[in-house]
Amino acid sequence: MFEKILIANRGEIALRIHRACREMGIHTVAIHSTADADAMHVRLADESVCIGPPAARDSYLNIPAILTAAAITGVDAIHPGIGFMSENANFAEMVEEHGFAFIGPTPEHIRMMGDKVTAKKTVKALGLPTVPGSAGAVPTLEEAREVAKETGYPVLIKASAGGGGKGMKVANSEGELEEAYKLARGEARAAFGNDEVYMEKYLGRPRHIEVQLIGDTHGNAVHFGERDCSLQRRHQKVIEEAPSPGLNADERAEIGAIAAKVVRDMGYRGVGTMEFLYENGQFYFIEMNTRLQIEHTISEMITGIDLVREQIRVAAGLPLSYKQEEIVFTGHAIECRINAENPETFLPSPGTIKGFHAPGGLGVRVDSALYDGYKIPPYYDSMIAKLVVHGASRNECMLRLRRSLEEFVIGGVDTTLPLHRRIISQSDFINGHYDIHWLEEFLGL
Ligand code: ADP
Repeated sequence: MFEKILIANRGEIALRIHRACREMGIHTVAIHSTADADAMHVRLADESVCIGPPAARDSYLNIPAILTAAAITGVDAIHPGIGFMSENANFAEMVEEHGFAFIGPTPEHIRMMGDKVTAKKTVKALGLPTVPGSAGAVPTLEEAREVAKETGYPVLIKASAGGGGKGMKVANSEGELEEAYKLARGEARAAFGNDEVYMEKYLGRPRHIEVQLIGDTHGNAVHFGERDCSLQRRHQKVIEEAPSPGLNADERAEIGAIAAKVVRDMGYRGVGTMEFLYENGQFYFIEMNTRLQIEHTISEMITGIDLVREQIRVAAGLPLSYKQEEIVFTGHAIECRINAENPETFLPSPGTIKGFHAPGGLGVRVDSALYDGYKIPPYYDSMIAKLVVHGASRNECMLRLRRSLEEFVIGGVDTTLPLHRRIISQSDFINGHYDIHWLEEFLGL
């Protein structure tokens, strides 16, 4: 097992990884920008290294600085966390070339799944259902017209290098196609430096359902059930729950087993998530994330298994600690992502925290790097806390969530806490009747 791990991230996820390491007896090294010198992840780690100025490209995305920090502190492995370097195959490759273990999949698998056209082709060949659309990239407008004619409108044009909903445009009719196609390519070029796009049928009212998976280097792979992440704004998840209120037990077991088999057939190492759209009883694969996800917490709550611990174990070459039949699902879990943003305009609200009280009690978990007096820097993601609640039933979980949101106090900055309180009191949410459009419609977008 590793003795020392460098955590190449910040905020709540750096803390999350640090906690798993601590419980495993592994020493931690934090890295930070000058803007994060007082951050909680720096305070808790055994050692820390300042790797650059505030801008992420000069610090958390600065590969030479990260590798130098790893070398001078003598770590065995690097955990990339979420975002930043976590899905950068070149980084994973360089980490390994410099003699450190990369806590994640092989660079080949990151690369394969990072290109969405290749990802779709790969999983389709291994037996997963995908959204109907182009067979591969669509390099010209003429080809886009042909594909749209075959699949029928509305169609979605998506960036091959996509992420975070960027480079994605809907065309409702042939008249809208040219503009949507050009916009998608332009946005993809600006965001990813790669304007390759592909096309899918635009599904009307699907749910977003994803399966949590892990594979080891001994040919084993298991799933940890699904999460329903349909409550999204601008393709960003806002509230997630597990299990999905939209699936029955047979559908759950079936999609989990199929996804785990694909991971096993790929010889995939590490945690990963297969994302699907689900409509009229059908699953359609959209992408695989080759890293830990923010919402891994709800899968942990319903299984009682520390996914980061398992992730570190498989990166160290150990076999999975659980067989599929040993993973038992208990109760229900919901996560609210709390951002430092105005709850109506969604404008970021960095600033100093004046008054912080996190809820507690049975089944309540708060993953956050906040503390009273902490100054949220303006340079990074606005998510500042995850409230994760578990209950024996969905109903108990929702009552506990309501009570926890009432208790939660984050003073000094605007937060989306009021938005969460509003969403969870809606009858559609209470009844589990929502799809990927529900939240934007509720917000009047
Ligand atoms: P990204 O990697 O940019 O997040 P995804 O492929 O994961 O892109 O899609 C993000 C979101 O966009 C999905 O959760 C869903 O809400 C919507 N979406 C993606 N593909 C389709 C589709 N074919 N039809 C309808 N909505 C889609």
